[in-house]
Amino acid sequence: MAKFCAFGELLCDVTAYGTSDRGFPIYEFNPGGAPANVAVALRNLGIEASFMGQVGKDHFGLFLKDTLTSKQVDVDALLLSAAYPTSLAIVSNKADGDRSFSFYRKHNADVMVELQDIFLQKINETDVFHVGSVSMSDEPSRTTTFSLMRHAKRQGKIISFDPNLRVLLWEDLNDAKRQIEKGLQLSDIVKLSEEELFFLTDIKNVQEACAMLMGIYDIRILLITFGSKGCASFHQDVYQHIPSFEVDAIDTTGAGDGFFGGFLSQWIKNGMKMKLSSRDLALYCRYANACGAIATTQKGAIGSLATEESVQTFLEVHNG
Ligand code: ADP
Repeated sequence: MAKFCAFGELLCDVTAYGTSDRGFPIYEFNPGGAPANVAVALRNLGIEASFMGQVGKDHFGLFLKDTLTSKQVDVDALLLSAAYPTSLAIVSNKADGDRSFSFYRKHNADVMVELQDIFLQKINETDVFHVGSVSMSDEPSRTTTFSLMRHAKRQGKIISFDPNLRVLLWEDLNDAKRQIEKGLQLSDIVKLSEEELFFLTDIKNVQEACAMLMGIYDIRILLITFGSKGCASFHQDVYQHIPSFEVDAIDTTGAGDGFFGGFLSQWIKNGMKMKLSSRDLALYCRYANACGAIATTQKGAIGSLATEESVQTFLEVHNG
């Protein structure tokens, strides 16, 4: 079976979990980082997957590495840095019910990651190479990300890209746009949320915005996600919308990663074709919607990602 390899950030999402009996806040450490979630999503669905990047050689980094190992993701190319700590994203609940984020990420391990021979080797062994845009926000991980993408391209690998724009991580959103555009130039399969599509094109009409991107870049398959409303695909000038399933969503963290993992698993298992019928594409999207929907039914990301069995059962229950 084809291999999948993701590069990028792996960090701890630190989320509020009530108060202690002494009145102090309690926080829960959740493994986070979109590219790592996508690697787990694919592995859960039966595709060999590896994750490359850098965490600190500290309590959090070892916890994250153990988490990926327990999910059977290959972590041979996950570096443990003695010099830089693991990043933390603190998520606090504000009085008005909204969530606020603060990132402990300056000069941290995932940002300070430099190009390594083992990264290039892993790409040589893979079929699909996946990245996001968080690793493009600061140096040196920005240069590392683009060097790896260019290497993958030269080696004839398929590149999948989920920009996953995190506005708070960028000092200048114009820079975010420029870097994502650079990424799109190298990508074959791209997933964007509706908001990201608008951010990149300034066009409100989704179909027109997709046509614009497909006109500029050499993207082969473009997927747009609309939360509970499902997704759309744009491929060979054909746009189609595929509705999602009705579920009791309790936490949407990881839905997009589960969705993209679901799509890529189907695309890989069915022969990695670059020319797809609308029917096949709709089937992969339906499967991906199911994976996204499943991920919303439990808290957190990595632990809530679908498995082959859970998608099968879900689709049987939701058939029709
Ligand atoms: P992202 O913004 O990270 O791409 P979305 O929130 O759009 O993620 O969700 C990705 C996919 O997960 C959607 O396209 C849909 O298939 C599924 N999904 C997300 N939220 C729901 C929900 N509340 N009900 C059903 N499906 C959902």
